[in-house]
Amino acid sequence: MHLKIITHEKVVFDEDVDEIYSRGVDGEFGILPNHIPVMTALDIGVTKVMQSGKPKYFTTMGGVFQFKDNEGILLTTTAEDGNDIDVARAKEALERAKARLAEHSAEIDAKRAEAAIARAMARLKATLNA
Ligand code: ATP
Repeated sequence: MHLKIITHEKVVFDEDVDEIYSRGVDGEFGILPNHIPVMTALDIGVTKVMQSGKPKYFTTMGGVFQFKDNEGILLTTTAEDGNDIDVARAKEALERAKARLAEHSAEIDAKRAEAAIARAMARLKATLNA
């Protein structure tokens, strides 16, 4: 089966894969060849693909996953290969967002801070695994 991971800017991944695992808004899911057609909204998280027994990890930040006739398309706002992630930057973003959330001030957009935390944590997870 085949998977494309696409953002507004670029095609991040476009290869044959044996297994796909990702995180939808309803929870984690896995796709093996000949899976029935699915369309699901994605959460912020890590998408893992298996190729000849080897895993590859990508951060996928929301969007939509569609699978039909052994073709998967993952359309997401931001995606990074686990090997390309700047760990120090993700750690800094995590600390900044946590500090913002801890302020409890009326001007703080908690949802935005929580999303920044989720992005940074997904990046760190993808790096640890990569
Ligand atoms: P930061 O506060 O560090 O910018 P962010 O979560 O606000 O993090 P995004 O808005 O999700 O960043 O991403 C902006 C751009 O920067 C995207 O192209 C994304 O791929 C890239 N990017 C963000 N964080 C990292 C990172 N830790 N390593 C590599 N690229 C990153």
